[in-house]
Amino acid sequence: MNKTSKTKERMSTDPKPAQKFIKFETGGRPYIEGKRCRSCAAVMTSEPLACPACGAREGYDSFRAAETGVLHAYSIVARSYPGVATPFVSAIVDLDDGLTLKGNLINIPPTPETITPGMKLRVTFDDALGRTDKEGGSYIAYFFEPAEQGA
Ligand SMILES: [Zn+2]
Repeated sequence: MNKTSKTKERMSTDPKPAQKFIKFETGGRPYIEGKRCRSCAAVMTSEPLACPACGAREGYDSFRAAETGVLHAYSIVARSYPGVATPFVSAIVDLDDGLTLKGNLINIPPTPETITPGMKLRVTFDDALGRTDKEGGSYIAYFFEPAEQGA
């Protein structure tokens, strides 16, 4: 969505990541950081004490997650908390490097006719739907959008 590559340090007033696994390049561009188990190579977004796949406590290597993937499953959400616009599409996406993430699918009509499991998606980053911290600072969150759109 925002493809301008600014080469500046992040300021304390810059948006904060809405999830711990959203990291920022030196230039400020966000990306998703995955963790890979050193024992079995299972991938995840957190670092549990013991790997949930193999039980090992060998630790994890960080990697920059793929920004493309396919839609695994979705749900069109028709009701939510006050202030949350509906309908929106909650999606489970299998990224191309094995990471599976849940997030909102945007830039597509929220209808079963337009959304197909297996469709190619890409990760995009944007303001976290107006969420702010106590000081009014904004958050940046990840979303998914159709890979063909605006390419
Ligand atoms: Zn493991």
